[in-house]
Amino acid sequence: MNPELERRLPELRVAAQAEPLGLYLHVPFCLDRCTYCSFTTTRDRSLQPETLRRLIAEVESWGSALGRPEVDTLYLGGGTPSLLTAEELQALTAAVRRAFDLGPLVEATLEANPGTVDLAWLSQARGLGWDRISLGVQALDDTLLSRLGRIHGSAQALESLELAERAGFQRRSADLMVGIPGQSLSKVVADARVLAATGLEHLSIYLLDLDKACPLRGEIDAGRLSLPSEDEVADVFEALQAELPAQGLQPYEISNYARPGAESIHNTRYWERRPYLGLGPGAASQLADLRWLDSGVIAAWTEGRADSEVQELDAAEVLSEIPLLGLRMHRGLDWGELRHESDRRKLRPLCDAWEAHLRSLAKEDLVLWEGDHVRLGSRGMLMSNGILQMFV
Ligand code: SF4
Repeated sequence: MNPELERRLPELRVAAQAEPLGLYLHVPFCLDRCTYCSFTTTRDRSLQPETLRRLIAEVESWGSALGRPEVDTLYLGGGTPSLLTAEELQALTAAVRRAFDLGPLVEATLEANPGTVDLAWLSQARGLGWDRISLGVQALDDTLLSRLGRIHGSAQALESLELAERAGFQRRSADLMVGIPGQSLSKVVADARVLAATGLEHLSIYLLDLDKACPLRGEIDAGRLSLPSEDEVADVFEALQAELPAQGLQPYEISNYARPGAESIHNTRYWERRPYLGLGPGAASQLADLRWLDSGVIAAWTEGRADSEVQELDAAEVLSEIPLLGLRMHRGLDWGELRHESDRRKLRPLCDAWEAHLRSLAKEDLVLWEGDHVRLGSRGMLMSNGILQMFV
């Protein structure tokens, strides 16, 4: 454990006992590397058994260090968690049950790549208690999927949703990507309609992010491919805002739609700034105003040679994250509570300045105020990047 975290352990333990945690576990292996990917992942699966042993050891040591705290949401992300063998998934799940108190557990999500799942694996995962699945569909167009370097086609993506349902997952989510070179507005809307018609409970709409170096960025920089314009992308998000509610999927966060009651509880904790512990290479944690990031160098992490980057958030950083994250959610936030928190942190002028700005945006219907409750309107959601800049 990082020496700073070790020194602050009593404080971390108190925070971990004060309310249930979210536990995120990172599985950093993929069959192939997608052309746009900048996540902590590798194709070198020779490391997988050792990395899993180390992940299980981390689960046990953190569970014990924090006094076997309660966990109410679990998230197995990646990489590709569906590359775990049945035995590895069983051992990891058993370790989590031993090390943490899962009494209040309300959601256990695992991510899966449609190109790696079959009915037997999904049934076993469901039998181990994983009750929500997030499938990286990305698009329902084989040319676009191949451009993204995905290992599956559109038929396989749809089949994986059906297999998940047959395996007993009543909460299925799919990721759909916007902004892929060559992707038309009408195609995204058509794909969203097809996904909604499968009856899935949750849809995440992501904008293709090519900020970091990756092969697709190289193709664009070399002029061989081009990205859709900002206006085209905005038109897609606006069209989805109109289309998805008609299909029974309501927006509840800038990028997320769900059937009533099927919102992601684990992801909501990030927007509510509730505490979470992340274990695995590149995983992030937040507890007691401390945030830390485990090293993303997979081999070093596996061998226990890597350190974590620890950051202590100051009062202004904590305060600004409340509206920065809270306004991402359609339900918005209680400004009276934020004002109270700003008094507690002696930052009332900062809070008042934000309020004045947000009230001025209400004149253009970008922001909606109902008494002391504030939320972004539908146009505000489309322009959220600019609006939320005031909190950065
Ligand atoms: S499956 Fe996900 S984590 Fe793996 S390479 Fe593709 S985008 Fe990256």
